[in-house]
Amino acid sequence: MRVVMIGTGYVGLVSGACFADFGHEVICIDKDAGKIAALEKGVMPIYEPGLDVLVETNVRAGRLAFATDPADAIKGADVVFLAVGTPTRRGDGHADLTYVYAAAEEVGRLIEGYTVIVTKSTVPVGTGDEVEEIIRRVAPEADFDVASNPEFLREGAAIRDFKIPDRVVVGAETERAFAALRELYRPLFLNETPIVAVNRRTAELTKYAANAFLATKIAFINEIADLCDVVGANVQQVAKGIGLDKRIGSKFLHAGPGYGGSCFPKDTLALSRTAHQVASPVTIVDSVIAANDRRKERMAELIVRAAGGSVAGKTVAVLGLTFKPNTDDMREAPSLVVVPALINAGAAVQAFDPEGMDEARKHIEGVTYAENVQGALKGADLAVILTEWDQFRALDLTAMAGELKERLLVDLRNIYTRAEAERAGLTYVSIGRPAMD
Ligand code: NAD
Repeated sequence: MRVVMIGTGYVGLVSGACFADFGHEVICIDKDAGKIAALEKGVMPIYEPGLDVLVETNVRAGRLAFATDPADAIKGADVVFLAVGTPTRRGDGHADLTYVYAAAEEVGRLIEGYTVIVTKSTVPVGTGDEVEEIIRRVAPEADFDVASNPEFLREGAAIRDFKIPDRVVVGAETERAFAALRELYRPLFLNETPIVAVNRRTAELTKYAANAFLATKIAFINEIADLCDVVGANVQQVAKGIGLDKRIGSKFLHAGPGYGGSCFPKDTLALSRTAHQVASPVTIVDSVIAANDRRKERMAELIVRAAGGSVAGKTVAVLGLTFKPNTDDMREAPSLVVVPALINAGAAVQAFDPEGMDEARKHIEGVTYAENVQGALKGADLAVILTEWDQFRALDLTAMAGELKERLLVDLRNIYTRAEAERAGLTYVSIGRPAMD
């Protein structure tokens, strides 16, 4: 099939490259000329494990190409995906659909012959109806359907998630649109991926419900972690104890500094706004949003407390800045709240992140960026682990204790045990594991 991806960001590029790998002919469009020029030279605009090889293989096979101008590509397309951003709208928390509407209008003017336009972007329930209206307005004679196919991939494991998904959700209003999407995803039938075929509004809402549920799990275990700290229980063991119950499941039960990233914060907020708008509030999601916002601020307070009540004049080594490992994505990362709070409290911050520092420099001022872990630790008083990159999991804690003036490690990801840290001569503070391993 001939597929066009409008928007070549995390989702558009990964999905486009994977569809090409399935054997489809894919053209990824982006209005960011720099991004397209880089891709044409084989340079990835984002860090995602395995993506460079996947892109190169499919470009070489002639199945994947890039362009800034969608005109030629869309004329011959069977399926056009809208994979543009839907950030939080300034001021009111709703999803900003400016890019989706602009892309829909552009696509509408260009389609020829039967085309299925599919929103892959995360969009509020009912957006498909609006996309359909826009296209109908700009192209009254066009032969098209609008479908919804929300994306569930995770940054850092995006290719695997796309190729071996737990499920594919497809929302459409006509059999013709379902047939096109079934054909597109046919390679996944071979590994028996469940395809959830529903109406368009159901598909749109499913994405928000999924993200809100996952965010709820994280916020829930974080509150249980705080309770553990007070009552002398171990949150990792509680998480294991509940996670083995199949009705609960063990994933997304890691206590930490609060969720971040490009999806959970904005999607929970957008769901809440939609729900309030139609007077069917989602009070659980509202509490999750508030708890998570508070949590990021409280993490800075926790570090200050661990440092004896003040970090003024102290140097804090911060390991990890991205919202999770294996990505360079800094959007809504806890570090964006924690690091400025430490600086405001008078600390000097020396930070190291394997992939996120270019992005971090644009958002956090007053930080000394180090070239490696050793550079971040050099001359510091205490260290904080903010992101659980693999390379932080096996640090030489004895060397760390030798370097840190206060011999204090605050581990906001619980990747070490108290016993090993104390054996190395460190004072160890983690999340929801008071005085025990
Ligand atoms: P992104 O910001 O990385 O990429 C969006 C791209 O679209 C940008 O490169 C931008 O230049 C381009 N663009 C915008 N308007 C355009 C137009 N009219 N024509 C061509 N290009 C245009 O965004 P992303 O992270 O890929 O997210 C895209 C959507 O997917 C969002 O709705 C997001 O919520 C959803 N989503 C993201 C993830 C994730 O992990 N990032 C996962 C699932 C779903």
